[in-house]
Amino acid sequence: MRTASTNLSSYLRYLPSVDELLRSKTARQAIDLAGAAHATGLARQVIDDLREELRSGSRKTPYSKGDLLELAASRLENAWDAEQKTSIQRVINATGVIIHTNLGRAPLSDAARRAVADEAAAYCSLEYDLGTGKRGKRGGHTESLLAELTGAEAVLIVNNCAAAAFFVLTVFAAGGEVVISRGELVEIGGDFRVPDVLAQSGALLHEVGTTNRTKLADYQRAINKKTRLILRVHPSNYRIVGFTAAPTLNEMADLAHHNGLILYEDLGSGALIDLDEFGIVNEPMILSSLEAGADIVTFSGDKLLGGPQAGIIAGRRELIEKLRSHPLNRALRPGKLVYAALEATLDAYRRSLASEVPVLAMLSMTKEEIAARVSRFRQELDKRLGSNSSLQVKAVEGVSTVGGGAAPEARLETVLVAISHQTMPTVRLEQLLRDSVPPVIARIADDRVMIDLRTVSNVDEGHLIEAIARMC
Ligand SMILES: *Cc1c(COP(=O)(O)O)cnc(C)c1O
Repeated sequence: MRTASTNLSSYLRYLPSVDELLRSKTARQAIDLAGAAHATGLARQVIDDLREELRSGSRKTPYSKGDLLELAASRLENAWDAEQKTSIQRVINATGVIIHTNLGRAPLSDAARRAVADEAAAYCSLEYDLGTGKRGKRGGHTESLLAELTGAEAVLIVNNCAAAAFFVLTVFAAGGEVVISRGELVEIGGDFRVPDVLAQSGALLHEVGTTNRTKLADYQRAINKKTRLILRVHPSNYRIVGFTAAPTLNEMADLAHHNGLILYEDLGSGALIDLDEFGIVNEPMILSSLEAGADIVTFSGDKLLGGPQAGIIAGRRELIEKLRSHPLNRALRPGKLVYAALEATLDAYRRSLASEVPVLAMLSMTKEEIAARVSRFRQELDKRLGSNSSLQVKAVEGVSTVGGGAAPEARLETVLVAISHQTMPTVRLEQLLRDSVPPVIARIADDRVMIDLRTVSNVDEGHLIEAIARMC
């Protein structure tokens, strides 16, 4: 009888060396795809793991040298595949959440994609004036478009709305007090908390009123020598309803200006146009806020606006220019791809073709339109699946959501494609969809996989059908 230690040492003797593994066919492919240094790192990790398993006895079956090499090669392949999953890649969003934060918020319009790929990705006129042949203003055209669309005197674009809020508060309120209603000390999307941003900016929070009711007199009483700014925050992802009170923006502007203060409104989702016809009611418009007397408003580029991630600061020229010449501007400004995508998105608004912006097109789809798409989709799917499929496909009513911390009370009625399998568990179906190329992200409800075509573009329906067909 062999002792445990001879067993162990003989298995360990069979363990391939890193070099041996690297000579295998799989490894040579990995070297081609990942580069020699990275593939060697992965191979070393695979061999280390196997050695550890043999030593600890968690691998009991005696392996031949060939078996261990094969096992190591397949582990190497899996390690490489798993790593590829973490790279950023296009997915099909079948969740019905339009501004899906985990899936990159707003998908760009065709024009915006072209502007990024064909113009900005090359050498481009980012800071170059083609008329004079001299240095030009970075983002100048994009900012003029925004000024035109919002009615603002001037606009400055930074990385995101959180940066915009931080920037405004730092420059105009650091060392002083900011008056804000207790009903607006909100958290938006996990890591944007109004009190924390205020603290970071070096401004002191002076909270007034109550969670549900704040009156003009509350603001008035709070104003003292140290007050710099009155802040209003759009609660974005939640609403206070019932016994509520808040002064109008007009009243707040009068109060601020009477006391020589700045009125700053952080609008977040930022509607450039009236979104009533797109099914979103009560979403404040940037334009109205500026008209009512806000000196500065900030909003995101990739929420309801439907463009790339950006933070837009619009308002009085004198204030915007102060921000522009501040050293922080250099740290917070976006890259050329952002200006290009934003400019192309805004161009659609200017030509009153907002429905070219995917977010708005998806918002405006009616339940009837989606029902018609679902019925065509099911016909195509039935054709593809044939008669002996184990899948059950039904149309059921449901709701899509706006997402992205915007318009929480909007009810977007939809029709879902509900899929279940005779034997396979629903979680497995959902995983198969995620494993397809491009990956399909769907949700599970009532033990079925639910597909909402509202967020799936027409051109992706073919991919989606192929992905579903894999589940048979
Ligand atoms: C979403 C939001 C932010 C943060 O915007 P990002 O672009 O995600 O940085 C800030 N304020 C309000 C009111 C928001 O809705």
